[in-house]
Amino acid sequence: MRILDAADPELANAMGLELGRQRNSLELIASENFISLAVMEAMGSWLNNKYSEGYPGKRYYGGNQFIDMSENLAIERAKRLFNAEHVNVQPHAGTQANMEAYFATIKLGDKILSIDLPQGGHLSHGSPVSFSGQFYRIASYSLDPETETIDMDHVRKRAEEEKPQLLLCGYSAYPRTVDFKEFGEIAKDVGAIAMADIAHIAGLIAGGAHPQPFPHMDIVTTTTHKTLRGPKGAMIMCKESLASAVDKAVFPGMQGGPFEQMIAAKAVAFGEALKPEFKGYASQVVKNAKALADELMSLGYRLVSGGTDNHLMLVDLRKKGITGRDAERLLEGVDISTNRNMVPNDPQKPWIASGIRLGTPALTTRGMRESEMREIARLIDAAIANRGDSKKLAAIRESVHGLCAEFPLYPEL
Ligand SMILES: *Cc1c(COP(=O)(O)O)cnc(C)c1O
Repeated sequence: MRILDAADPELANAMGLELGRQRNSLELIASENFISLAVMEAMGSWLNNKYSEGYPGKRYYGGNQFIDMSENLAIERAKRLFNAEHVNVQPHAGTQANMEAYFATIKLGDKILSIDLPQGGHLSHGSPVSFSGQFYRIASYSLDPETETIDMDHVRKRAEEEKPQLLLCGYSAYPRTVDFKEFGEIAKDVGAIAMADIAHIAGLIAGGAHPQPFPHMDIVTTTTHKTLRGPKGAMIMCKESLASAVDKAVFPGMQGGPFEQMIAAKAVAFGEALKPEFKGYASQVVKNAKALADELMSLGYRLVSGGTDNHLMLVDLRKKGITGRDAERLLEGVDISTNRNMVPNDPQKPWIASGIRLGTPALTTRGMRESEMREIARLIDAAIANRGDSKKLAAIRESVHGLCAEFPLYPEL
């Protein structure tokens, strides 16, 4: 930051403070991660300067021969990671990718069948406050009330009743494995497009810690910045038969010039995910989530669905007499970052919520393993148990800082 420090000390100060916050807190927000310095270097580069509307080999501006090399690397690497026939790496973010996927496959006013939103979906899957709930008719399936997992017989029944044009699987707060094969079969049987939004689990899939959506899905969207550990952004993958519709929906349908610095950073991240070490990362993320979940349960916490198969878990705090919002604030006070989250059939409004969502992708990137996860579970429990005791909370915060110091973040910066 030496250049920015001199050029804009005011802004550099804000960035420096944020770096300090990231270094000195335990990041348990399930959608966050720490990118490599190589990814960061590509993002903050001169590729930003180029206009390259269109696609490799078919650009509306001259001078794109090297940009094409970079975008093609991103595409080829993504194809290998996900066994995809066609990839568009231009979507700016997950929400845009979903909009473009709908534009490519269904008509305005068509019906989408997705999960009941408070049970783990994403706003862009049909919330009335999102474009998705305004442009399309939305029907929903829900979690089994007993197991709090997705019951495929129920999904089939809902699909047969609703006859949607698009069946969507993919979640922001679902701790279990997604049965893409069964979702694909149901979609085929009712004549719907099968779409998966793997924003959260893309890194687990790339690292072999969750089953692949292809060949069961027609179209798959993902962000690139969650478990996949790349830059903020997204991509759409699809069967060859949808390739041209997807490319048109992205540009000129929804976007203009692609962010080629971000696409280069996606290429770097995909290259990292293709390395054998990434398999180890993905499996450690899952092992860490299990260790954190097990320790919390042994401390008397109820986990939605009784645990986790992936990188995240939902802790139902009702038994502990604290709301999600209050727990989020309390934990933030001891430098543990989490987010409040609805639990299935939550009596609270989303702003308050009865639970918190915890995920292990970021701390696993820092190098933490099962024993640290168990320690963190005990710190979370100690904070909740001693929430009125500022002395004890100060000691917990010290322990958090001790743990952070053992696993330095970006020591090179
Ligand atoms: C995070 C997320 C998105 C949206 O990503 P943005 O980049 O924030 O727009 C979409 N779908 C799911 C399932 C997500 O978890």
